[in-house]
Amino acid sequence: MTVLIAGGGIAGLTMGLTLHQLRIPFHIFESVSKPKPLGVGINLQPPAVRELYALGLESKLDRIGVQTRDYGFYTKTGLEIWTEPRGKHAGYNWPQYSVHRGKLQMMLLGALVQRCGEECISFGNNVRSFTTTASGVELNIKTDNGLKVAEGDFLVAADGIHSAIRAQLHPDEGAPVWGGAIMWRGTTIAEPFLTGASMILAGNNTQRFVCYPISKPDPHSGKAVINWIAERTVDPNTHVEKEDWNRQVGSERFRNDFKDWDFGWINVPELIDGASAIFEYPMVDREPVDFWTRDNTTLIGDAAHATYPVGSSGASQALLDTRVLGAAFREHGINEKAALAYESEIRPMANKVTLANRGNGGPDAIMQMAEDRCKGDFSKLDEMLPMEEREAHALAFKKLAGISVEVTNSSRNIL
Ligand SMILES: Cc1cc2nc3c(=O)[nH]c(=O)nc-3n(C[C@H](O)[C@H](O)[C@H](O)COP(=O)(O)OP(=O)(O)OC[C@H]3O[C@@H](n4cnc5c(N)ncnc54)[C@H](O)[C@@H]3O)c2cc1C
Repeated sequence: MTVLIAGGGIAGLTMGLTLHQLRIPFHIFESVSKPKPLGVGINLQPPAVRELYALGLESKLDRIGVQTRDYGFYTKTGLEIWTEPRGKHAGYNWPQYSVHRGKLQMMLLGALVQRCGEECISFGNNVRSFTTTASGVELNIKTDNGLKVAEGDFLVAADGIHSAIRAQLHPDEGAPVWGGAIMWRGTTIAEPFLTGASMILAGNNTQRFVCYPISKPDPHSGKAVINWIAERTVDPNTHVEKEDWNRQVGSERFRNDFKDWDFGWINVPELIDGASAIFEYPMVDREPVDFWTRDNTTLIGDAAHATYPVGSSGASQALLDTRVLGAAFREHGINEKAALAYESEIRPMANKVTLANRGNGGPDAIMQMAEDRCKGDFSKLDEMLPMEEREAHALAFKKLAGISVEVTNSSRNIL
């Protein structure tokens, strides 16, 4: 029994580690020829951290990440709307981590190669399509040397937002959906702000700044790597380049919109000016689909449920998918029944999260609520948006995403 995994990103590598833990043979096919630590910051919620700990990666994760202490929403003038503790500070049994995506990917790859050997993953292998056969599944793969076919018993598609396998399962779907916003992402070496491990979002639905440290402070300079995202809604008729996590641009495209955002405790223009590189990415997601599994093939991670990067859902849910699917393989065997069990547990919730992140259900919608109620005069914030309402809004999303303290702490690690 061999499981073929298309894609060696966050989901694909964790799937490999999970199958190794279960002693199930697997092979990963990754399209890039040489793995590089690409991306900027992402957040891992406590349930995802719990699973990384269960994979024995606790100290490795702590070496590359920062335990997020709190998460705060601010008006565009820098006034606090809602701040809540995170991870262990919020009562979870596990921390929340802010981490560089590329470092996380390299950490997972390093652990996988250490445990399973280099031969468990083939780079420069672009999975084009699959064919269901009497005995399992065949992958059609393009390599630098031409085309090849790989045979296995089951296919787990972890090939990200542009998944070729999802396109084959859902041929009419087309490109990811752009909601009209553009993100500019960067990292800057700077003094940590607030608690030193705070994550903040300021602004509203049409313009916002998100910021958090992704390294511990340097013991000599006291400075840390600060991850930031500046986001603006633009005219929907604007031509946007195809989404590419690695397209570099200059700050002139957006800096002027944030020129007055010096709140005293954080100086946005200074952070933008100090960035080593800035990456532009149109905010896209995928329309939820009504199935992920067919015969001996299923989707996980962004291939299954690409969502806007708000609410820290993307990487966390990708990690959890692998663990739920692994548990289903253990219970039902490596077959469609297992994949359907995984899908029925995750898909309804993940689809709801995708839709919530588009609109008013996401945790950050509280910023637009403040904007709408105060109509520019934030001195009336307490009167216009009572604290109880802010608290209820924050709790509603955690329940929807299945990440409330009670649910997380009451469940042991999945495997
Ligand atoms: C280069 C890169 C940078 C990113 N940077 C950020 C970021 O800064 N912030 C953020 O929030 N999210 C970022 N993401 C997305 C984030 O990693 C995912 O949303 C999340 O972690 C879910 O992981 P995933 O494994 O499902 O998808 P991904 O992490 O996107 O991994 C998919 C993997 O599949 C590979 N792949 C794609 N097509 C094929 C194919 N046909 N055959 C074989 N392999 C294939 C890709 O090379 C990639 O390694 C980035 C993704 C990539 C690929």
